[in-house]
Amino acid sequence: MEKHCDDRLDDGFSNRLRGISMDYGGMMISDSVNKRLYRFRELMDREKIDTFLVTVPENRFYLSGFEADDLQLTESSGALLVSPSSQFLLTDFRYREEAEEQAPGYEIHIYSDGMPQVLKDLFLSLGTERLGVEGHFLTWVRFQEVEKALRESRPSGQMVATDGLVEELRVIKEPGEIELIRQSLNLTEEALVSVWEDLTIGRRERDVAWAIESFIRQSGGEDVSFPPIVASGPNAALPHAVPSDRRIEAGEPVILDLGSRLHHYCSDMTRTWIAGTPSDWLREIYRVVREAQLAAQDAVRSGVESVDVDAAARALITKAGYGERFGHGLGHGVGLAVHEKPGLRRVKGMVLQENMVVTVEPGIYLPGYGGVRLENMVRVTATGCEVLNRQDLIYSF
Ligand code: ZN
Ligand code: ZN
Repeated sequence: MEKHCDDRLDDGFSNRLRGISMDYGGMMISDSVNKRLYRFRELMDREKIDTFLVTVPENRFYLSGFEADDLQLTESSGALLVSPSSQFLLTDFRYREEAEEQAPGYEIHIYSDGMPQVLKDLFLSLGTERLGVEGHFLTWVRFQEVEKALRESRPSGQMVATDGLVEELRVIKEPGEIELIRQSLNLTEEALVSVWEDLTIGRRERDVAWAIESFIRQSGGEDVSFPPIVASGPNAALPHAVPSDRRIEAGEPVILDLGSRLHHYCSDMTRTWIAGTPSDWLREIYRVVREAQLAAQDAVRSGVESVDVDAAARALITKAGYGERFGHGLGHGVGLAVHEKPGLRRVKGMVLQENMVVTVEPGIYLPGYGGVRLENMVRVTATGCEVLNRQDLIYSF
């Protein structure tokens, strides 16, 4: 009886915590850290790794809540060291306060003379035998530093280069993450609507890109998730065009590809604006791209191979005669990074699972003329997908 009562109390308490978490992103994240660490330790166990060094900034945040970014690959703001029963955040004195506040579950170690000095002590006290590192991100110089520290403190220790172990967890989004992704996408859509209304013949690509960027920053976004693409006329035939001084001309397509970063989560969407009356070729490729997008969205479902979703769009575009003009993959995962797993490409990738969040972005590019791309973000569900975008700013020809 007493036990039952306790359970109810516990439930009430954790429900209240969850309630608070939904309102305050910070609490939710620290609430998630324990669960994430638990699952990560299962992966370490699977890989027979007893100590793991986390250096990818998004992974560091995901597993600890420590928010600092790296200025560049060679200037790290810190690393996590995870063992089966303890976790450490290694950083320098500039980040001491943030580290203590943002990663309360971690033992903070401040290094003044480089990270290896602290690593050596920790390897020794942990008795590290198999040290996992993130081979896909560590520079060669850093790799050698870490290896030297291990050799000096634990001569029998081995380095194990992994590729995407924390990312394996990040690929499936938690409910709280999906909510943050929605908020990030809402901001991106608001930014697009605001510039869409001001698009006119004669505007410069560069000015439109700046309008997007400043809207996102002024509306609370931490940053753009990537520099906006505003590509008009022939530039729209370049999938990753850089906004130029070119002015929009009558009858042209303008590809607008943009994203925000809000509460650390990225968004990414594309619409194609048409300046006035489109010519027949433009109308046609627009129609094909939209049909391909709808076909691919129909193909998304938990249990489907990512290559089959790409193929659903590609088959339609190829049938219309533009197969050669759709040179990139159909989409990619979005989360803490704007491009992450799973990739939806022409090659076999990953079986989609519920609560992955991916883009669906077919395009057709005609060199010298222009192009069309439409990009939505969708959440994979058991029976299909939920399109996270509002379905506007899309023409129906
Ligand atoms: Zn995009
Ligand atoms: Zn994208």
